[in-house]
Amino acid sequence: MNPQIKQIVIVGGGSAGWMTAAALSSLLSPKDVSITLVESDQIGTIGVGEATIPDIINFNRLLGIKEADFMKATEATFKLGIKFVDWGRKGHVYTHPFGSHGVDMNGIDFHQYWMHSRAAGNDHPIDDYSLCAVAGLSNKFALPDPNPQNIRSHIRYAYHFDATLYARFLRDYAETRGVRRVEGKVDQIMQAPETGYVTGLKLDNGELISGELFFDCTGFSSLLLGKLMDVPYVDWSHWLPCNSVQAVGCTHAGPLVPYTQSTARPAGWQWRIPTQRRTGNGHIYCREFMSDDEAVSILLSNLDGEPLGAPRQIRFKAGHRREFWVKNCVAIGLSSGFLEPLESTSLYLIQEGISRFIALFPDATLPEVVRDEYNRHMRTEFEQVRDFIILHFAATERDDSPFWNYCRNMSLPDSLNHKIDLFRQTGRTFRYEEELFSKASWIAVLLGQGITPQSYDPIVRNLPQTTVSESLESMRLAMIKEAGRMPTHADFIKSYCPSGNL
Ligand SMILES: Cc1cc2nc3c(=O)[nH]c(=O)nc-3n(C[C@H](O)[C@H](O)[C@H](O)COP(=O)(O)OP(=O)(O)OC[C@H]3O[C@@H](n4cnc5c(N)ncnc54)[C@H](O)[C@@H]3O)c2cc1C
Repeated sequence: MNPQIKQIVIVGGGSAGWMTAAALSSLLSPKDVSITLVESDQIGTIGVGEATIPDIINFNRLLGIKEADFMKATEATFKLGIKFVDWGRKGHVYTHPFGSHGVDMNGIDFHQYWMHSRAAGNDHPIDDYSLCAVAGLSNKFALPDPNPQNIRSHIRYAYHFDATLYARFLRDYAETRGVRRVEGKVDQIMQAPETGYVTGLKLDNGELISGELFFDCTGFSSLLLGKLMDVPYVDWSHWLPCNSVQAVGCTHAGPLVPYTQSTARPAGWQWRIPTQRRTGNGHIYCREFMSDDEAVSILLSNLDGEPLGAPRQIRFKAGHRREFWVKNCVAIGLSSGFLEPLESTSLYLIQEGISRFIALFPDATLPEVVRDEYNRHMRTEFEQVRDFIILHFAATERDDSPFWNYCRNMSLPDSLNHKIDLFRQTGRTFRYEEELFSKASWIAVLLGQGITPQSYDPIVRNLPQTTVSESLESMRLAMIKEAGRMPTHADFIKSYCPSGNL
């Protein structure tokens, strides 16, 4: 048997660093493996990252975290999906709800029946058949019912939270399980001369930290993979041209909504994410099409409440490191790549990086085949998420600004072109290779962005339209009735997980 890894070092204590530390410490005993996390208060963390997708629930469950405790500690609210405003065209609104639309029948997707009823004059948008969309848009929330026969079992949710508080919460968790936290700035990185493997770090206070396996969780500075190893960055800015953000919190105004709102702007888009204490806002834009001053002015004139400080500017470039794991260094989080938070996927990609590492947990020889498999998997994950995000920009009728003209006319990855063509011609879409986004997600955004199928399922087309329309109408009314029974989102939080800031 090959020797086991005994010393793991995590460099960086943002969400990526502490999620990695928490997950590893939940599985490894400090008697067998020492885990050290180095972070620098002087450098700090990115401090944004408030919206998530339902997969985060699995991550917290894996750690054995109680939901209400975590929600109180991170001032979290619930998220049932994303409301997109002005994306496909100005004045148009659609949602990308979690969960499905309606109920599939006879093994055929629900949206095929919906298209059949549209052909007979039904003008209800597909959102009206999603319990998450109907409840979310009326500011209602309830946890899913475990009984699949119950309509409430259709609820799927995620959270909005304060990412800094999440990292702090996970720090407590990891330290309790033996992770050693070291405060200090990495000044020097030592490598074995013959292999280039990292052997240790020297901190600005002179302390030496040695290890066998290193996680690079140093954020955009990408200390190990980027600066030290010079792993090239795969640049996707020709497909995702936004490269800047102005972010600011504001006070709450109006009801506490259980969804993220994303509003398209002339050179990008603006998010609105409510946590228990405040609403997070950010205006993401492309500097080639808009000045920083104009971006700030648009952000500030579109806040619900009073700004809590001055906007903070962050620059980024869409893409990822060509390899995620090189020698004995694994990049997780912003150090490995970044895709704008339009579908709240960054924390998910961190989670996926950690889970895939655990699934491939190597011995101390760190076999090359294991690294190759990890890199293949993470590349595919990034590419699949990339395609889904590009869809929002490319499938648009907007022609009111040079930015949207660029997006509407840009050439697309072949993989995305294929999905769009298949849906446009046949009304069909499929989930490929453990893809993150479900069919229901693709359908919500394809339809929402204005791609209307030219045809639909021939089996459904032969069914009597009145029968189909009646069955859809009863589903639609059942959604409204069920949402009506739920408490408001704010009331649910007050009784389930109050942080004292609502
Ligand atoms: C504008 C924006 C909005 C976002 N919104 C979302 C969202 O809604 N949903 C979502 O899932 N994700 C979102 N993200 C992404 C999310 O914020 C990050 O993926 C996540 O917080 C992880 O960041 P990180 O830990 O990789 O980096 P950071 O938070 O930057 O942490 C880096 C760590 O490395 C340490 N470090 C760096 N250099 C050194 C050094 N020399 N020595 C010692 N320590 C060092 C720092 O001190 C820090 O602890 C967003 C990102 C941006 C930029």
